[in-house]
Amino acid sequence: MELELLNRLKLLVAICDRNTLSPIYSTVKFKAMIGEYPETIFKLFEVQYKQFSRQEVFAVDVNTPYSFILQLKDDRTRKAIKITISDYNESHLMIVGEDITELKKLEYSLKSYASIMEKQEKSLRKIAYTDSLTGIANRRAMFKRFTEYAQDEDNIKGAICILDIDHFKQFNDTYGHTFGDYALKYFAEKVSSVLDDDCYFARIGGEEFCIFSYTRDEAELNTLISSVLNLIKNCDIHTPHQTMTRISFSAGITEYKKHGTTLNELLSNADKALYFAKATGRCRVISFSTKLFQKSDDTPISNFREIER
Ligand code: GH3
Ligand code: MG
Ligand code: MG
Repeated sequence: MELELLNRLKLLVAICDRNTLSPIYSTVKFKAMIGEYPETIFKLFEVQYKQFSRQEVFAVDVNTPYSFILQLKDDRTRKAIKITISDYNESHLMIVGEDITELKKLEYSLKSYASIMEKQEKSLRKIAYTDSLTGIANRRAMFKRFTEYAQDEDNIKGAICILDIDHFKQFNDTYGHTFGDYALKYFAEKVSSVLDDDCYFARIGGEEFCIFSYTRDEAELNTLISSVLNLIKNCDIHTPHQTMTRISFSAGITEYKKHGTTLNELLSNADKALYFAKATGRCRVISFSTKLFQKSDDTPISNFREIER
């Protein structure tokens, strides 16, 4: 009766001798999927898992059933069957198989879903922090990098530079916006190629870029940016008019702690130095100094953006 019920429920069950593993009885399902002999289970398992030890199985008792998963075929369908071998009585073991194929499929789907989500999140994060035209970091990324840097109290050095391409509107007007885009990419590539790992480089606006050096002071960054300017202003660019042209930039520099502790403060002061550079002829690098912004009667000039450019 018990066996009949197990068969009717299509359960995979067998009872065998603990020592010889010879069958006492096995359900129709067991015979169909595994065979007449419970020992086949161990052979199948030994093939799939080399480190399997029969000794562990023979030692099972009611409190410590032995479980493993077997890949089996039911008709032509591949199934994941969880086999549990437990103590039946002193001289017999009971083998029960549970079809966990759907569970495994779900587990697999969840894992691949999680991995897709992870990849998507990674690519979204990349998009959020990358300038789509030039491929370098964007303004948001610069703020994030600076915040991370400033949060570490051991980081006390550093300097910021804003680089603004000179007469870029005129460049666009002469050669077209598409070539202007090309020039911005060219500029970003050229500057990236000469910066070291100590510098974080981002495009923070249309034709405005920012370099954050983690270890240089204002004077050291000025030396570096001056050499970048020297390189850029001497590079020929082939134009769509079959001619050669060149670009230059003006730059303003501020030092971390000395001219501000937040990026907004540092950028605002660097902007003042930048517009001093624009006002005094462009194609130059100016370090911020409050002295720059004193009129002869000693009243400070509040905003150099208002200076005629
Ligand atoms: P200045 O020397 O004073 O900086 O002059 P400028 O012409 O460079 O400055 P202005 O602010 O007058 O003009 C900036 C120009 O940069 C105008 C704008 O069309 C151009 N620009 C900004 N973003 C892009 C871009 O993504 N692609 C192109 N091609 N041009 C851009
Ligand atoms: Mg500008
Ligand atoms: Mg400009």
